[in-house]
Amino acid sequence: MDILNILPRSLLAERLEALAYLYRRSDAAVAEFAERSGVACPAGCGSCCEGFVPDIVPLEAAYLAAYLAGADKPLAYSIAANGLEARSRDDGRVGCPLYADDNPYHCTVYEARPLICRMFAFSATRDKLGAPTFAVCRKGTSLGGVRSAKGDALIEAFGVEPPVMADLGSELASIEPESSGSRKPLPEAVREALSRVLFLVGMPDSEILDGGPDIRPTLPRAG
Ligand code: SF4
Repeated sequence: MDILNILPRSLLAERLEALAYLYRRSDAAVAEFAERSGVACPAGCGSCCEGFVPDIVPLEAAYLAAYLAGADKPLAYSIAANGLEARSRDDGRVGCPLYADDNPYHCTVYEARPLICRMFAFSATRDKLGAPTFAVCRKGTSLGGVRSAKGDALIEAFGVEPPVMADLGSELASIEPESSGSRKPLPEAVREALSRVLFLVGMPDSEILDGGPDIRPTLPRAG
């Protein structure tokens, strides 16, 4: 689905385009790391989402909201009205409400999933001195069975450096700096974003206000 065509032209739509570009680059970095390192998840594993509810920034929530508004508008209105609830499992874990047991990716919004979900088992953190550190998920595998490495040893261990979550997170924050400190759990963030997005979806281009300046170029006056 073309998520970027769901919204009329607006400041939010431009920022979502920048976010889509960041997501494409993140996906490419993860794919390259997975291919070159051989790090892999077990087939059909969804355990990352089964015991985890991501905290996301408002812009990522708006991306998810635009996706939902395009994919299933009745569902989008229902979530805006009633909210989403984290999913409690029989084993006591509390997981993401957008998880599906019967979907091969286990994510009902896979195309629009947030940055952390794209990076889950394929990104490094930085230690106190700033050195990238990577460990294979306890359920994952790697070529040659290497489980972890740090700094300069990463290339020797995995053949390539993994993308660093904090670096991509900084890029994410720079797209909409004024809201980047307002991370919220996904259920709450998506519900709030849906109110904003569904309002915009119903507006023609010419009436966009969007809580910010209209950044469309001024058309030259006739005569
Ligand atoms: S949004 Fe999708 S990938 Fe992310 S935690 Fe929820 S189900 Fe998992």
